[in-house]
Amino acid sequence: MQQFIDVVLPIPLEKLFTYAISQEEAEFLRPGMRVAVPFGKSKIYTALVHHVHASPPLAYDPKEIHQILGEQPLVNSIQLQHWHWIAKYYMCTLGEVFRSAVPSAFLLESETLILKNDRVAVDEMNLKDDEFLVYEALQHQSSLKVHEVSAIVERKNVLPILNRLIEKNVILLKEELYEQYKPKLVRFVKLADAHTSEKDLENLLQSLTRAPKQSQVILSLFQLNASQEKPIKVTELERASGGSKAVIKSLVDKGILEEYFIRTDRVTYDDGQGGHEVKTLNPYQEEALTAIKNSFESEKVTLLRGVTSSGKTEVYVKLIEQCISRGKQALYLLPEIALTTQLIGRLQEYFGAKVSVYHSKYSIQERVEVWNNVLENKQKAQVVIGARSALFLPFLHLGLIIIDEEHEGSFKQFDPAPRYHARDAAIVLGNLHKANVMLGSATPSIESFYNVAKGKYGYAEITRRYGDVVMPDIELVDIKEQTRKKRMKGHFSERLMEEITTTLEEGLQVILFQNRRGYAPIVECTTCGHSPQCPNCDVSLTYHQYRKQLRCHYCGYHMALQESCQACGSPTLDTKGFGTEQVEQEIGQLFPDAKVGRMDLDTTRGKHGYEKIITAFEQQELDILVGTQMLTKGLDFRNVNLVGIMNADSLLNFPDYRAHERAFQLLTQVAGRAGRTKKRGKVIIQSYNPYHQILKQVSTHSYDEMFKEQLYEREQYKYPPINKIIKITLKHKEYNKLNEAAEWFSKSLRNVFGGSVLGPEYPPVARIRNQYLKNIIVKINQDQSLPKTKNSIRRIEKSFKSISFYRSVRVIYNVDHI
Ligand code: ADP
Ligand code: ZN
Ligand code: ZN
Repeated sequence: MQQFIDVVLPIPLEKLFTYAISQEEAEFLRPGMRVAVPFGKSKIYTALVHHVHASPPLAYDPKEIHQILGEQPLVNSIQLQHWHWIAKYYMCTLGEVFRSAVPSAFLLESETLILKNDRVAVDEMNLKDDEFLVYEALQHQSSLKVHEVSAIVERKNVLPILNRLIEKNVILLKEELYEQYKPKLVRFVKLADAHTSEKDLENLLQSLTRAPKQSQVILSLFQLNASQEKPIKVTELERASGGSKAVIKSLVDKGILEEYFIRTDRVTYDDGQGGHEVKTLNPYQEEALTAIKNSFESEKVTLLRGVTSSGKTEVYVKLIEQCISRGKQALYLLPEIALTTQLIGRLQEYFGAKVSVYHSKYSIQERVEVWNNVLENKQKAQVVIGARSALFLPFLHLGLIIIDEEHEGSFKQFDPAPRYHARDAAIVLGNLHKANVMLGSATPSIESFYNVAKGKYGYAEITRRYGDVVMPDIELVDIKEQTRKKRMKGHFSERLMEEITTTLEEGLQVILFQNRRGYAPIVECTTCGHSPQCPNCDVSLTYHQYRKQLRCHYCGYHMALQESCQACGSPTLDTKGFGTEQVEQEIGQLFPDAKVGRMDLDTTRGKHGYEKIITAFEQQELDILVGTQMLTKGLDFRNVNLVGIMNADSLLNFPDYRAHERAFQLLTQVAGRAGRTKKRGKVIIQSYNPYHQILKQVSTHSYDEMFKEQLYEREQYKYPPINKIIKITLKHKEYNKLNEAAEWFSKSLRNVFGGSVLGPEYPPVARIRNQYLKNIIVKINQDQSLPKTKNSIRRIEKSFKSISFYRSVRVIYNVDHI
């Protein structure tokens, strides 16, 4: 009987696709394996086997697969279940989940390469203009891809041109299918089998008396063999014997030595020794640990709220220890990779080489290796630290998931789909594995704390800092008043200056926080009021002094700073607002002897960007560190005594129902970097509005009060966690079409959901990369079915897309948008 497979393609298609396979292939293939399949006219994709079956599709004649890739499944059945949940819940396709879950190296690519036909003489006069452009480009490049041709002729459909060029014998096409991942191979040597006994050694050395270098190599090899069990690398033998590559090669050529290759991991870390004693917990930590374990007994997700520096990490370490001693895998999720540097070190002290790291700054090769190590359940991947994508690793025996800093918004993927929240997706994954799930934070999200209040989550807390260090003293400074009294130096109040002076005198360190990067967010002409805008986005260009550039933070557009106004020509340009660059510059002038560093997106590019700055600050090569929210997250600096928040207002005035919660969390977290060891830390918060209730709550460490107030507001205005929300963004390059489309869509939504629909409204930046944006928000009551609501929205989208005028408008869903 004819056999078939249904596969997931890594593209945003709603349905699975069916392909024909042979009987043998049907016996071999299992769900989660990869196959290369033809798609459309000329594409080849890597697809994932979903299931094998014998019922032909009704609507089309299935093609055959090209080939099977790999002998084992790449993805296991729990993952597939998890992907299904993500696709359904976050309103995207399985293909989109597939594409983002798997390292791109596993997604074999087909690229139609266009080559120049060298075997014929081309009559250039015989070519049309567009054909000539392609031909000319091929004089400079050995090959072109289809999309590159599109760019050259500035037109989408280039197949007709290519066809003509083929007919005219100008070009050749080449279909290339290639695996991107190349494992790193290391060369090893051993004695050829004929020479392995002692007696042979003597004969061998006899025969080499006239080649002293070669016999030295043989002797060294014997010594290395005697002193270690491991295979011996060529480089190692070179070093031990002092012999060159050429000497070793001649022994290989003589058949005395044999070379062989072993695949090795690129991902190795220093000092993976481990074996440090796990710290003994203090009574508060013990109490929390007991509460957590009890809660795990009843299989509940458990939230640990512990003030900053209360020693939450050490509690997690105990849980991890227990998990891996039962032979299970542990996953430790962090919101941002800036944090891993310190954490890798801490976890390696305890768990040594069992710790692996997985994140997007690592190369494709490195990610593939961690993937394979987890898939094969190797020791070295028993504890995985990673940012949100580590959730997609092929765990088989997951026993524990820790989601540290669970309140962090960066756990939510914004673009592209799947727009999932890693915390929530991790809880679902934990369920599928029957693993324990631990959420931790000093400032839990309103959602999680609400779930505790309702009894849905278990709870543990630590209310004291480790070592009984007192919580930092937080002082609010009114910048309006200070300005009036002329007590400001640049953006520094007198109080902040005084505190910096004493802190530096005591040999302690300072952190300065400003939530904007660059020098100034706006450049303005004082004569005519003009300020340079991004040509592609509706936003002012940010001035970066270091490069004398104006840059767009949304699309990357940049231009040199002009000497005079582009509108009126006056040289009267001034800046408005300030970013980290300006703080760094001012502080350098105010404290010329202090060594100042800066940590923001601009200074931390590259794989080790963070590490360098964090290490320099840890080792006190820097006295003052200026940074954006990047430095708020869980970093443990021993010597920081003062934290200055340059301006809290921009955080508070954000037009978003979550702004106050977020401001509380951010400020409490930055403040928590101060005074973590002995002396009580000091925090100065500068603001034009020091009487704001959130600032008061931060300064009195009143999480509970903040929670109560915010929850009340959410109840009043029907926002999460009381209601669920789905944000629908419509996107198009034509302003009028977008407006009309958004009206149509929201009206249809209102017909079904009535007053629970908000908008359409422009977001604060209403045009990005030349695309206009409009948002509609649908609020969903607790007693309303979420799946049914999503289905209704989908139906509306279908009718929308059936109107040809709207078809080109993109519709983007963001479920649980934050
Ligand atoms: P948190 O994650 O709650 O901010 P950390 O786990 O970073 O706190 O702990 C703060 C500091 O206290 C760290 O330097 C840590 O090594 C130290 N510490 C925490 N618990 C212990 C313990 N039981 N014994 C010794 N030192 C501890
Ligand atoms: Zn002007
Ligand atoms: Zn832009």
